[in-house]
Amino acid sequence: MSVEIVFVMVGTTHTGNLGAAARAMKTMGFSQMRLVDACSHLSAEALARSSGANDVLKEAQTFDTLQAAIADCRVVVGTSARARQLAVPLLSCREIAEELGSASRSSLAGQKVAMVFGQERSGLSNESLDLCTRLLRIPCNPDFSSLNLGSAVQVVAYELSQALVSVPQGAPVPQPGKWKGSDGEAAAPLSTDPDDLPATSEGMEHFFEHLDRVMVSTGFLDPDNPRLLRRRVRRYFEANRPTGSELAIFRGILSAVENPRKRK
Ligand code: SAH
Repeated sequence: MSVEIVFVMVGTTHTGNLGAAARAMKTMGFSQMRLVDACSHLSAEALARSSGANDVLKEAQTFDTLQAAIADCRVVVGTSARARQLAVPLLSCREIAEELGSASRSSLAGQKVAMVFGQERSGLSNESLDLCTRLLRIPCNPDFSSLNLGSAVQVVAYELSQALVSVPQGAPVPQPGKWKGSDGEAAAPLSTDPDDLPATSEGMEHFFEHLDRVMVSTGFLDPDNPRLLRRRVRRYFEANRPTGSELAIFRGILSAVENPRKRK
């Protein structure tokens, strides 16, 4: 069983690009498209450019926010034509595909992974990048690095298909570890407990809300002058996304800060 790749299109303005993205996905064997604040995916142009990948467009799900679109995902990869400041780790397309291929064989088998694509002109906003656990850049000419959206989806879909094709269907190889894969580690029974997997984006949002409350109530964060603190903290935890049970420990610590218990 492989990971389930979900292609998330944010703010797409040209319907033809959604058609091209659907075609690119389907040629590489992917079908799950999610749309956030995007133009009409069922326009005549979108359907024409999909060249027969109408099913991908027709089954695409629409969401009001990126947070809602990725709520059930345990890995969220943002794509960008340029390196960003204060970003989660930036990897090439192939490196991400290899990491996911390796994780597919172990802990992340059957779990949802989002590949997030930005708007044609401006790319992904900082707020969208804040929700990502990894950043992907297709290596290309440094002086001319912005691919057409449909082309970017094609390259990413191709690399993923190559890396995931070797993942055997059926029972995953029992290896411990998070999504980094587990090269060289001793084999151990694979936990089927979802709390041993990287948390979902929805779980992370609850944690960030809690953390924010505590940072403000303790006076550590001035909400009128947050500067880059929120973003820094967020990106640290996203780059090292905790498992569900680790998150429960952090939430327990935050609750204890809010309501200190006296030691008997
Ligand atoms: N100036 C924008 C370019 C937007 S191109 C930026 O810095 O990202 C539209 C979308 O195509 C991007 O948001 C990204 O999802 C994808 N894309 C284009 N070129 C890419 C590249 N070299 N690597 C990764 N994604 C790319």
